[in-house]
Amino acid sequence: SSDAGQTQIVVLGAGVIGLTVAHVLSENPKYKIKVVARDLPEDLDSQGFASPWAGANWSPMGEYNERTYRWEKTTFDKFWDMIPSGRAIASPSRVFYDEGKDVSAMWFKDLVREFRVLGAHELPVGLKCGVGFQTVSVCPSFYLPWITKELASRGVEIVRKRVASYGEAAALAGANGVLINATGLGARSLIGLEDKAVYPIRGQTIVIDNPKVNEFMCTELGPDHHAEATYIIPRPWPNASGFTTILGGKFETDNWDTSFSAEDARGILKRCTALAPAIADKETRILKHNVGLRPARRGGARVEAEWVDVPCKTEWLTDEEATPETKGTVLVVHAYGFGPAGYQQSWGAAEEVRSLVDSHLNPNKA
Ligand code: FAD
Repeated sequence: SSDAGQTQIVVLGAGVIGLTVAHVLSENPKYKIKVVARDLPEDLDSQGFASPWAGANWSPMGEYNERTYRWEKTTFDKFWDMIPSGRAIASPSRVFYDEGKDVSAMWFKDLVREFRVLGAHELPVGLKCGVGFQTVSVCPSFYLPWITKELASRGVEIVRKRVASYGEAAALAGANGVLINATGLGARSLIGLEDKAVYPIRGQTIVIDNPKVNEFMCTELGPDHHAEATYIIPRPWPNASGFTTILGGKFETDNWDTSFSAEDARGILKRCTALAPAIADKETRILKHNVGLRPARRGGARVEAEWVDVPCKTEWLTDEEATPETKGTVLVVHAYGFGPAGYQQSWGAAEEVRSLVDSHLNPNKA
């Protein structure tokens, strides 16, 4: 605890998860919050973290899951409320399936707005059925700086630092402090934690400007789906049309390659143009080619609390590095492994982190 009776909370990681958790926790004046990370929100070209590269919208991924549904419902509503501010935009959406099935009661029908079953005339050639709705998207290059500015106005400090081990991370929070572990893929190589369930899903995308490509469309997405799920996401951008569009994508499990692939880019353009022929217009401008790694985890995202003793020595560190000045216990709340859904789960997951912190620090009230 610090001088003013505040509890020191260190958030390790400044991707969308670390920043959103810091935002939610900073509502409580009893918490003194510091964000520590190797990649900071201003590093919008860094492939060292996932958050600059997201679409970033709400898309249906895989099957119904009670926990992630809760996270996504909370986040969808939060993003929806950001529409008047211009930080988020709504877009009409069509999601297609290549096998015939009853789509009238898809698990997300009450999560999105204006859900409906598509008529045959709304389906691209070769796709069997689909659903339409309104979804919402943000754009990392404006969203991350916005949330950072909010944190600054709440007195949250943000420090650039690469941490080598779990013990070093826990020591940053100090005895009786709290560590939030929002390190994404970093959780795999944080010495002493070394969560080998964490793995990358490589993604490649193309950002274009063409006001006619203004509808979210995709064929089924998610880590369990095939490596070439196709998606088109309009997202807010301060140009004349108010948005640009991101075309994807690739879902390559366990591929750490962050280099650009011309073959992937050609495939993405071809598959997206089949869904939205306007992409082939002469007026389409290609603004950017991106490659990013989604920080996934076998068994799903880890949002969980545990107590760790400090000093917490690991054999790779000298005694000096491993020993903080005071001895005690640190509460660690993990929040990593969100894979392809870190934005769309961010506010709900951050709420769960908040309740884990509150209930572990005040067990009698829980
Ligand atoms: P990251 O953004 O990877 O941040 C990790 C943080 O931890 C960084 O600050 C890093 O520097 C820090 N860190 C790690 N190790 C250490 C260490 N040892 N010491 C100090 N700091 C450390 N999601 C959606 O919801 N919707 C989408 O439409 C969407 N589209 C996507 C498209 C693509 C092409 C890609 C690549 C991703 C997409 N995602 C999407 C997924 C989303 O980007 C991620 O789920 C999300 O960014 C993960 O955020 P994070 O904060 O957990 O991790």
